Amino acid sequence: MSEMNELYQQLILEHNKSPRNFKKLELFTHDADGYNPLCGDHYHIWLKLDGDTIADIGFQGSGCAISKSSASMMTSAIKGMKIPEAKILFEKFHTVIMTKIGDAIPEEKIEELGSLGALAGVREFPARIKCASLAWHAFNAALNQLAPTVSTEQEKNYKPS
Ligand code: ZN
Repeated sequence: MSEMNELYQQLILEHNKSPRNFKKLELFTHDADGYNPLCGDHYHIWLKLDGDTIADIGFQGSGCAISKSSASMMTSAIKGMKIPEAKILFEKFHTVIMTKIGDAIPEEKIEELGSLGALAGVREFPARIKCASLAWHAFNAALNQLAPTVSTEQEKNYKPS
C-alpha cells in the first residue's frame, strides 16, 4: 500500500507541475469561478458544451498542489464525456474522498476513478477535502449557469469573489 501511495503522490506532483487543460477557452458556453477561502485556492473554469458532450474544458488560477492536480485530473477525465457520465464520476469521487478515516474503500472503487483515484488519500486530511473537490464544484456551478451563450469575450462572466 505504501508503494501505491508513493505512486499516487508522484502523480499528484506531476499534475501540479504540468497541469492539463490549464488554459482559458476562447470559445465557451459555460464558465464559473471556484474559491476555497480555507486554503486560498482560486480557479476559473471554462466549458464548451456540444449538446450534452463536454467538447472542451479549461481552467486557470492558483492554489495548492491538491487543488491544482485535482482540477487537472478532473478536466482530463471529463473532457469528451457526456454530462451525466461526468456527474456519475463526481459522485463516485465524492463518495471516496468523503469515506470516513478508518473505513476501508474497496480497491475497485478507487480504480474506477482512474488518475483521480490518486486523491483518495485526502480523506485522511479533512481540511484538504475542499481542495480536492473545488474544481468539481466549479464545474457544477458552470453547468448550472442560466442562459448559456458562446462567448469570445475572455472576461465575460468573470466575477472574482
Ligand atoms: Zn488547497
